[in-house]
Amino acid sequence: MKIKFFLMSLISILLSACHGSVKYATFDDYPVYEGSDLELTYSAQSSKFRVWAPTASAVKLLLYDNGIDGGAYENLDMKSDENGTWLLEVEKDLKGKFYTFQVKIKEVWLDETPGMWVKATGVNGKRAAIIDFAETNPEGWENDVRPPLKNFTDIILYEVHVRDFSISPSSGIKNKGKFLAFTEHGTKNSAGETTGIDHLKELGITHVHLLPSFDYASIDETRLNENKYNWGYDPVNFNVPEGGYSTNPYDPGTRVKEFKQMVQSLHRSKIRVIMDVVYNHTAASKNSHLNLLVPNYFYRLNTDSTWSNASGCGNETASERAMMRKFMIESVVYWATEYHIDGFRFDLMGIHDIQTMNAIRAALDKIDPTIFMYGEGWTAASSPLAEDKRAVKKNAKQLDNIAVFSDDIRDALKGSWMKAEIPGFVSGIDSLEESVKFGVVGATQHAEVDYSKLIYSKAPYVNNPTQIINYVSCHDDMSLVDKLNEAKPLDATDDELIRFNKLAQTVVFTSQGVPFMYAGEELYRNKKGIHNTYQSPDSINKIDWNFKTSNKDIYDYYKGLISLRNGHPAFRIPTQEMVQQHLKFLPLLVPNVVGYILTDHVNGEEWKDVLVLYNGNRKAVKVNIPAGEWNVVCHDGQINLSGLASGNDTIFTIAPSSASIMYQK
Ligand code: CA
Repeated sequence: MKIKFFLMSLISILLSACHGSVKYATFDDYPVYEGSDLELTYSAQSSKFRVWAPTASAVKLLLYDNGIDGGAYENLDMKSDENGTWLLEVEKDLKGKFYTFQVKIKEVWLDETPGMWVKATGVNGKRAAIIDFAETNPEGWENDVRPPLKNFTDIILYEVHVRDFSISPSSGIKNKGKFLAFTEHGTKNSAGETTGIDHLKELGITHVHLLPSFDYASIDETRLNENKYNWGYDPVNFNVPEGGYSTNPYDPGTRVKEFKQMVQSLHRSKIRVIMDVVYNHTAASKNSHLNLLVPNYFYRLNTDSTWSNASGCGNETASERAMMRKFMIESVVYWATEYHIDGFRFDLMGIHDIQTMNAIRAALDKIDPTIFMYGEGWTAASSPLAEDKRAVKKNAKQLDNIAVFSDDIRDALKGSWMKAEIPGFVSGIDSLEESVKFGVVGATQHAEVDYSKLIYSKAPYVNNPTQIINYVSCHDDMSLVDKLNEAKPLDATDDELIRFNKLAQTVVFTSQGVPFMYAGEELYRNKKGIHNTYQSPDSINKIDWNFKTSNKDIYDYYKGLISLRNGHPAFRIPTQEMVQQHLKFLPLLVPNVVGYILTDHVNGEEWKDVLVLYNGNRKAVKVNIPAGEWNVVCHDGQINLSGLASGNDTIFTIAPSSASIMYQK
């Protein structure tokens, strides 16, 4: 087969050479450029441009004075160089100038592109900018360090959209909707309670996970006064921060510097920063910045040459191809080094191949093995790449130290994401106990879980709890408040909905694995019942910081849960083996109830044994618990780590729709 392909490609290269452009029989035949100097290498003496465009018959470099207006002041021919690249060095200081490439395929000049490795741009990311990155570093950047992290199970993820965080007048923040909002301390809501970054510190989360903050398409950066909203899952320039979140999208250095100021500020507050990365597709297809360099190479096509669409957004990238893989690895490494990013959440990770994901892990390990990687272990639609090669949930054991989201625990707790009216364990539905237990053991192998009774998976799919993200809601679909309201039993009261909510998050924050929460859930945030708010206005998406005052009881409970988890390593066991040895389920035989003990000072726990009981029933239930003196720290919707009560009774009553947590010394 290989010989045949070689001959075919040789013939096709020879044939197409007559037309002045190069054609290859398969994507594997494209030359691979190994160097790390793609597109621009800047110094005050010269700018070297090297663009990978192996199928081009000619490539031009266009130089501009401006990021958006006017014609090119120079139009230069690039020279064909090694491994499909085109080279040109301009021996001048081009700082402050802008450029694009233009590729000719056969006789046709394609539209201009700033390239795909581009790291700074003018407004709306149309032209690449030449800046000196050393000048974008905020004061003290050289001393910026990642806050300490021992195990991935010590992480608490807080998923937030840059705009939602500060846009409400109730935030008291000046730089509303901007990266700089994360640098403002001392901000308050109208009742004088802490908001913004001070709130995050007070809440106790360890990692902020930012919704897409690279340059995306849907917001016109020249018309920010229109206050349009979008989540940002429509990538334009993967290596450039979004201009709409900067105070001046026209100046290429501003967004770079302000992004760094945000990271520096969060790091100073001992909070790590994670980026949501969306390498699985681009906003444009035929005219994307990638496709204007090497048509079709970076994307998967169907056998009939139409664009395959596992992203549901019109195209899907091809991580298995050498230069796309190289791009993804270098892009992630770039964010981790230039911007000191501490982790990456891969959107629709199931579109990417396992080999690429593991290569990214290996590259990040060289920088710092505590950089966290996780992703959605699924696709939005079918993909031409064979499923056994893809980074989907069921292949998670083949992913090295990369975590996946557990939709199993999510939907067991709150009910179906798709059918809003279907409730889950916390709203009083039984038969979901095994799925809750599966969440408790962090999707690992445990002798006391019956995997045949799970709602989605039928087997444990990760090696260790470090590989599972436990959650009950995120930006997608309804907020937890809305979902529980939509799926509520007809006679459920508002007080009961709060109970359901607290119980759901108690399972998330006490389960083994990595807990994840959607920003504002701690304030009892709602999104007015809307299922998909990707372009809903601020009135739907904003965090209303006055909710912190009106829902103080809920906020205190969430804060208590986080404090319980941060203070007690029994809930943060890093290995499957330790979970198997120290986590024992109680044979309660009461429907809609799950109970377990974490034994014998597990994982350095100060408490000898910890007993956890979840009651999904809308009535109190009595259960038998092991003998001994139990100190209760969580009960009936209250948490107090100094103790709520203690006793020796072996019959314990769990309050309706709530969790009880207790320990023996
Ligand atoms: Ca943009």
